This record gives sequence, C-alpha cells and structure tokens, in this order.
Amino acid sequence: MSMAEMEENRNMVLSMCICRSCPSWVECKENGGFCFPTIGKSKCIKEEKGCVCGGCPVTKKMKLKHVYYCTKGSEKGQTGG
Ligand code: SF4
Ligand code: SF4
Repeated sequence: MSMAEMEENRNMVLSMCICRSCPSWVECKENGGFCFPTIGKSKCIKEEKGCVCGGCPVTKKMKLKHVYYCTKGSEKGQTGG
C-alpha cells in the first residue's frame, strides 16, 4: 500500500468510526480508528465496558475479526502480522 493510499484509508476509517458512541469511550481529544495499524491503541481508554466495533461500517468494509482495538491494539497487531 502506498503512503497516499494509507492516508486515504486512515481518513476513511476515522470518518466512519463509531467509537464515540461506545460505552468504553473516554473523551480525551482522540479520534478513534484504533483498528487501523498506524493509529493503534488508545492512550486514554483503559477499561473495557463494551465494544461497538461489531456494528461499525469499517468492520464490514475491511472484514475485521477483532474487537477492543483501543485496549488490545489494531487489527494487524491482534492478528500478529
Ligand atoms: S472498527 Fe471500531 S475502532 Fe475501527 S473504526 Fe470502527 S468503531 Fe472505530
Ligand atoms: S475500539 Fe471498541 S471498545 Fe474501543 S472505543 Fe472503539 S468501539 Fe469502544
């Protein structure tokens, strides 16, 4: 993936992300998109109080398999690749 494509995908993920509506969300000027490899874990969310990633359009579009990207790391990180 080229740098431009990465940036484009990152922006797409951020625009579609529904983390703000999640019970685990902590408001601290982050923008979500924790599933994306160059964004990764949250620095503020520490407690897992539920995850709405399953209902996010990004999960469907990118065929994501995990949840709790904010605390456990990106899709790529959790897959181990
Ligand atoms: S899958 Fe989760 S972390 Fe990724 S964009 Fe959607 S709500 Fe945000
Ligand atoms: S990654 Fe999942 S648990 Fe974390 S804020 Fe987003 S929806 Fe909530």
